[in-house]
Order: sequence, then C-alpha cells, then structure tokens
Amino acid sequence: MTEEEIRRNIEEVKKRIEAAARRAGRSAAEVQLVAVTKTVPPEKIMAAYQMGLRDFGENRVQEMVKKRGELPVDIRWHMIGHLQTNKVKYIIDWVYMIHSLDRPSLAVEISKRAKAVGRTVPCLVEVNVAGEESKFGLAPEEVVDFIREVAQMPGIAVKGLMTVAPYTENPEEVRPVFRRLREIAAQVEAEQIPGVEMRYLSMGMSGDFEVAIEEGAHMVRLGTALFGARQ
Ligand SMILES: *Cc1c(COP(=O)(O)O)cnc(C)c1O
Repeated sequence: MTEEEIRRNIEEVKKRIEAAARRAGRSAAEVQLVAVTKTVPPEKIMAAYQMGLRDFGENRVQEMVKKRGELPVDIRWHMIGHLQTNKVKYIIDWVYMIHSLDRPSLAVEISKRAKAVGRTVPCLVEVNVAGEESKFGLAPEEVVDFIREVAQMPGIAVKGLMTVAPYTENPEEVRPVFRRLREIAAQVEAEQIPGVEMRYLSMGMSGDFEVAIEEGAHMVRLGTALFGARQ
C-alpha cells in the first residue's frame, strides 16, 4: 500500500462506518476506529496519523513498545492481543486500554503493576463467544463471576467487553456473535457491580465491522481495510 492508498482507505472506511451507524440509527461519533498497526512500518502509520487517527492497536508488546518510541507521543496505544503476564510491566505506564483481559492471573498482574505506578488502567474483558478452541477469552457463562473478581482489584477499571468473531467470508454469519456480546454486556450491567462500566463493546474487524456496528460496536479494530493485507 502506498501512503496515498492508505489515505483513500481511511476515507472509504470512515464512510462505511457512517453508513453502518446510520442503518442502525446510531451516530458514527459513537464508533471509535482503532487502527491495527501490527506489521505496519512507522512511515505508513504516520500516513494514518496525519489523517487525524490517534488510536492504534497492536497485539504484541515488543512491537508496540518499539513503535511507541518512534511515533508521536499523543498516540493512544491499545493492547488488543494475548498478553503474557511477564510483559505487562513494559506497557503499564502508558497503555491506553487493554482489550484482552482474559484470565485471573493477568488481572492480578495488571492490578499489581498499575497500583505500583499509581494508575488505573481501563480494560475490556475478552469473551470467546463462539467457543473456538483456537481463541483466547472467557466463556460467556464465566464473564459475570470473573468481572466480580476483577472489580475487587485496585488499578483496573473494567470498561466493557471485546470479542474476535470467527473468520468467515460472509459477515452475516457472525452477526449472532456480536449480538451475543451485547447481550452479555447487558447481563453484566444488570448486576450493577461497583466500579464496573459496560461502556465499550470492542468488536468488528476488516471483514465484519459493518455488521458489528449494526449490532452495537463502540470500537472497531481495523488493520487490513486500512493498510492492506499483512505478509
Ligand atoms: C489483527 C487483529 C485485528 C485486525 O484484523 P483485520 O482483519 O486486519 O482488520 C483486530 N483485532 C485483533 C485482536 C487482531 O489481532
């Protein structure tokens, strides 16, 4: 992708986000675009930055740390991939949001490290809605108990849920997955757990983001649609 192509992709994606929001009677302002920059070199990321994007997502700590050092300081870095507990310390000071909180041991580590640096880190709980073997995330029936546990921990603020839908050619097939995530969020909300908010649903990727927006997504994580296919 040339930088010119990336700029055009961003324009195009913004229009598609607006159209999807409109179809659902929502405002596009409710939908945050998180540009997924894994494998994308800094000069290409800068093309997106110059278009006004500030929210970028990475799935590997090492790559995120490196790019953060090479790019403007006002970027909001989202951790969207599986996070090893021994890597939390490298991002805890500055990570904007962790989308992939998926187990108690990770929550304990985030809490400990966040407390030590005097931060409260916004986290989304990852749910494996479709129950895929290959994916991380809690089973839907585990979510409420897990969030109750996390709610007791200092340094973590649960702000919503995240899911990665199964890969499919036809995004209509995964509409029930997104709908289910929204229902799980409503269930959590009904529990009124102190300190817990279900403000964000992080769902939708390049192949399925319009359906996700129609089903209530507040954050869509797009890589390929902006930067082209990864190697
Ligand atoms: C890579 C990745 C994305 C973006 O995928 P695309 O299909 O390229 O848009 C979104 N979410 C997560 C968790 C990812 O790892």
